[in-house]
Amino acid sequence: MHLTEHLIPGPKDLWFLPLGGCGEIGMNLNLYGHDGRWLMVDCGVTFYNPLQPGTSPITAEVQAADPAFIAKRREQLAGIIITHAHEDHIGALPFLWPRFACPVYCTPFAAEILRRKMARTGLAQQMPIIEISPGGTCSIGPFSINWLNITHSIPEPQALLISTAAGKVFHTADWKIDNAPITGRPFKPQVFKRLAQQQITAMVCDSTNALKPGFSESETACYHALFDVISKEQQRVVVSGFSSNIGRLISLGHVARRTGRYLALFGRAMENMVAAARVCGYWPDDIPLIEPSHVGYLPANEVLVVATGSQGEPRAALSRLAQQSHPHLILEENDLVLFSAMLIPGNEMLVSRLLDKLKALKVRTLQHKDCPLPIHVSGHPNQGELDLLYRYVQPAIAIPVHGEAAHIKANAAVARAAGVAQQFTGQNGDLFVLAPEPRVWPQAVATGRIAVEH
Ligand SMILES: [Zn+2]
Ligand SMILES: [Zn+2]
Repeated sequence: MHLTEHLIPGPKDLWFLPLGGCGEIGMNLNLYGHDGRWLMVDCGVTFYNPLQPGTSPITAEVQAADPAFIAKRREQLAGIIITHAHEDHIGALPFLWPRFACPVYCTPFAAEILRRKMARTGLAQQMPIIEISPGGTCSIGPFSINWLNITHSIPEPQALLISTAAGKVFHTADWKIDNAPITGRPFKPQVFKRLAQQQITAMVCDSTNALKPGFSESETACYHALFDVISKEQQRVVVSGFSSNIGRLISLGHVARRTGRYLALFGRAMENMVAAARVCGYWPDDIPLIEPSHVGYLPANEVLVVATGSQGEPRAALSRLAQQSHPHLILEENDLVLFSAMLIPGNEMLVSRLLDKLKALKVRTLQHKDCPLPIHVSGHPNQGELDLLYRYVQPAIAIPVHGEAAHIKANAAVARAAGVAQQFTGQNGDLFVLAPEPRVWPQAVATGRIAVEH
């Protein structure tokens, strides 16, 4: 019998076990173990680039962490928390949930997104979704949870204080310090400074931008940059970005209003996000939003389109515009396509094909990397922000996650310099024992990837 068959946390134990998202970016799936029970935090997907197969033998477009370890002992799984509605945190849940069949806890916006996803699976009625107000509290088995408002690039991002009889974990999930977000409240240092008095055993922290010095820029800086660029344009402007960034879409709505343009959204994912934002009260009434089918009738200088597909995804709205096969708009010479997004490594080929097609149409393009203004800002913390949060919280142990090995190492170095005594770096399948005797048990559990339909 394999050792992991006996892997049951006792009342004095506090364990952290990542099955996905540690040593890689995407498909986050974290487990915390205490007193015979497990708590899952997030259940996301990763998007596979079929043109760059890499070393993985799996060729599925969408993948999730293999949940076999926890699915086999699902009677020990007390519940699932979704920290926010990004695909790398929520995307696998509709497909994997039948293997867990336990309650799901999330904020109202994430719940709205989840219900829309579940409606497509036919299992919507069966999943118990327990809505927690942003900044609220709840108990899940032996785990007491304080949900903490933090800032990121989607509505209602939550960090978690997970308290047990054996110790406390501060799980940051995805975050940045944004003092002027477009939607939601600014970052509040006091919330995190207060944690220092609680003697946090371990802080499990986002490493995405740990290689970047300084501080990320605010969504408000991005709004001003988008206004500066778009206000000088006389032709159609198409902006492509991440559909879940409601703050960015609201910024573009305000830019449209101030520049005498109408805003149209091209792409199902984005329409879905905006519909959820409306339901939850995040979408302002004064945005001049029009039906996509009306765009073709407007003068060029009154058009602002936001289109999905900034990574060159062949079926997304932007690729269809580049192929002149979009039902609602034919791009013309001198129109501008602006990328309010970063290029995700691995997508270079798809994006360069897209740019070639636009160039052939004599459509101008502006990418984030070629623009001196912040027409895109990241939702993740740079080194300066990591340093501040470690100094606020003062955990005994830092556990960098949500990054590849180099990001994790860089995050650990920031933690060390900020005075965190121990840094545990590892990868999916490592068992991070936080109490009673802190140590890492490498590769305690088998992990892998599975294909999911999307
Ligand atoms: Zn993430
Ligand atoms: Zn995120």
